[in-house]
Amino acid sequence: MSWDRRTTRQQARTRTAALKSQVVDAVAPFSPYWRERLAALGRSPADVASVAGLRTLPAAGERDICQDGPADAAALVLQAGESGWALHTEGPALRRGLARRLFRPRSYRGIVEADTRPTTFVSAGLGLRFPVASTRSDLDVVARTGARLWQVLGLTRADVLVAALPLTPTAALQGLQLGALGAGSPALFPGDSPDDVAAALRLVPASVLALPTGSAGELLDDLDESGADLSAVRTVLLVGAPDDAERAAALAGLERAAVSGAAVLAVHVPEGHRLLWAECREGGPGLHTYPDLELIELLDAETAMPADDGEVVLTQLGLRGTALLRWRTGDVASGLETAACPACGRTVPRLTGVRRGPLVRSLALRGGRRDVDLRAVAAALDGRADVKDWRVVAGPSPRDGADELLIHVVATGEPADVAVAVARDVRTASGLLPTQVVLVATSADLPRGRGPSRRVLLRERAQPAAQG
Ligand SMILES: [Zn+2]
Repeated sequence: MSWDRRTTRQQARTRTAALKSQVVDAVAPFSPYWRERLAALGRSPADVASVAGLRTLPAAGERDICQDGPADAAALVLQAGESGWALHTEGPALRRGLARRLFRPRSYRGIVEADTRPTTFVSAGLGLRFPVASTRSDLDVVARTGARLWQVLGLTRADVLVAALPLTPTAALQGLQLGALGAGSPALFPGDSPDDVAAALRLVPASVLALPTGSAGELLDDLDESGADLSAVRTVLLVGAPDDAERAAALAGLERAAVSGAAVLAVHVPEGHRLLWAECREGGPGLHTYPDLELIELLDAETAMPADDGEVVLTQLGLRGTALLRWRTGDVASGLETAACPACGRTVPRLTGVRRGPLVRSLALRGGRRDVDLRAVAAALDGRADVKDWRVVAGPSPRDGADELLIHVVATGEPADVAVAVARDVRTASGLLPTQVVLVATSADLPRGRGPSRRVLLRERAQPAAQG
């Protein structure tokens, strides 16, 4: 049965086996972070190697992992080595490896290292940049998943990709590069300078153009001005989950550049992950995921409890470099659909209404620019005995336009003491002292608005601000 047509029951069976192998054979024994964490929680690998067991593990994100800085992310990399590999590798690969150890020692080392040695790194993160490691076998997974990505996007090996993306090592760039390789499509990655992209388009008639979501409209204008030949483009990939305004800007840019009839499809990889999700060519809603390679949950961003909408949390199945269990991506989705896609019929889970990174904001405070992890701020407020209700408001002050972080609370204790305690705890949790703690009498007096979760509200700038 093809990877994208399995029944719920078949998916569950594959997932159970993959989860067990990932947790018991790979992550628990060989990830320093998870080994320590499981010991601290008093759990054995077997306890958490099922879907129900996994859900008893606290979800963790970049701030939880990198408490002393980005180098801490190394603790997520599986460190197996040869003896660990022999202990935990499944029969056929082990037999093949051991036979080679006798007769072809170099080839044996190659097999072990393909599974265990990080060879390639990309940089990821919202509030801080940390390295994500891949082994040779991980890169194989990324490339093979790229072939599936091409299927979802309705592309074939006859398609030619030109990607107008910055050449910084990110999972999105790596995913498209290896994806094109896996699918057998020619692909050019000239960087994101309009002149260089136009030059690449003179070399090959691109049928697929990949653009960064945040600047697609602008870039199309620049390409048009550089005289780029976009006449063969039938597919435009918006890399990063576009919101409605960004999608509209891209469509308007295509119209100005006289590109007609092209399918505009979102592709996206959350920070920390390595597999690109995509919208299907048939126009079904949501990003199509890979049920045998990842387990996706939505959690309430404030309480980290399961929710119908909320933060996208993922567990990787089968990746052995940096290995993520219940990873808080910082992305938010409005739903996780498990029924078959109404357009393409694929039975893979689909994430709808994905917004990238709204839980970590770059704030231009009066004292300078700071990244603030709103999950940490919410965690400092959730479930307190001295606070009955609360709202966090982040964004520009109506007074002077500088960003601020306001905490509104309904206190149950002595108000002045509560204000001091809240400010202190928010600073400890998020590294940032709130601009102000505002005390109000009842929940009805709390501010209203929109944001990434029920009690975390964002004020937007009147002008479109730089990506934050
Ligand atoms: Zn679909």
